[in-house]
Amino acid sequence: MAMNTEIVELNEQNIDIEKLMRAAKIIQNLGTVVLPTETVYGLGANALSSTAVNKIFFAKGRPSDNPLIVHVCSIEMMEDLLKEPLDLRAKRLIKAFWPGPLTLVFKRSDKVPLEVCAHLDTVAIRMPDHPIALKLIELANVPIAAPSANVSGKPSPTMAEHVIQDMNGRVDMIISADRSRIGVESTVLDISSPVAVVLRPGGVTLEQLQEVLGKDGVILDKMMDDVVDKPRSPGMKYTHYAPNAPLLIVRGEREKIIDYVKGKIEKSVSSGLIGVLCSDETKSEYQGAHVISIGSVHRLDQGASNLFAVLREFDRIGVDVIFAEAFAEDEMGLALMNRLKKAAGFNIVDV
Ligand code: AMP
Ligand code: MG
Repeated sequence: MAMNTEIVELNEQNIDIEKLMRAAKIIQNLGTVVLPTETVYGLGANALSSTAVNKIFFAKGRPSDNPLIVHVCSIEMMEDLLKEPLDLRAKRLIKAFWPGPLTLVFKRSDKVPLEVCAHLDTVAIRMPDHPIALKLIELANVPIAAPSANVSGKPSPTMAEHVIQDMNGRVDMIISADRSRIGVESTVLDISSPVAVVLRPGGVTLEQLQEVLGKDGVILDKMMDDVVDKPRSPGMKYTHYAPNAPLLIVRGEREKIIDYVKGKIEKSVSSGLIGVLCSDETKSEYQGAHVISIGSVHRLDQGASNLFAVLREFDRIGVDVIFAEAFAEDEMGLALMNRLKKAAGFNIVDV
């Protein structure tokens, strides 16, 4: 049954506090509010209430064994959620990266509802770097659980129009604001054991984490880029970010990628619409296809930021198949390729 969703426009440079107060009241009354953050738009509810949190899973169609990230606006607000006081490593990470796109996984206290952490003995927490998100949490005066505000399995929303497409009629309120600045989700870093493990690459790069923790102080989860049945981060096992058309990643030297994709375009003249996801450096190569560039290969941070909107654009055009160039997997390219591989269901051809 469709709900009545109130859509409220807010300007992050000049926040209308009265409007935001209405959103805070909804959170306090155990309702759902879509809020802008610097990573992607989030679907928020009171993180201390099972009733409220269940509404998030329902609105997204999210499997209940995929835990949520809890958003806080202060260190005091998270203390109740933790089993142990912050150690030196956590304090250094928080000092370096909060507020910002780094989620930390801690051993949790009994105050965390089991739905939030999907019955794990840990909880994932971050402090968003966005004035509207921070102010909303402060006004609501409770931590806010918020996964990405897309229908489960679809690309994460980085623009208000994406959220309205996916969530109108499924939540109590949508806060419509600017495009998400980072445009890709947070890095999830498990610090519940001695070696810090990146469970999901994101807005803070591995290289940045190594600067704080040392080269040996942080590792990538072995299963990060695999389809696996028992991943450490349950969210990793589900199809994610998938556009409507099948997506194939083409990996190899630039010239070979171009030859491969051009061959496919030539063969397909009558057999349907081909989409090509590429870079500014190669976009003039693919005549006869629907070509969308994610930007320059020298600015994969911007590429990562553009990816979800580009995937949704292919849906809007209605292509039959998408070929995507593979990008370098360092710095923000690591998060970009992680999302692209998931969007492709790990469908990759090496040329
Ligand atoms: P989303 O909010 O949709 O960006 O997804 C949140 C991500 O954080 C998912 O990949 C979850 O599996 C991961 N996550 C949340 N809580 C935990 C936790 N306690 N341990 C490990 N991963 C977590
Ligand atoms: Mg998500």
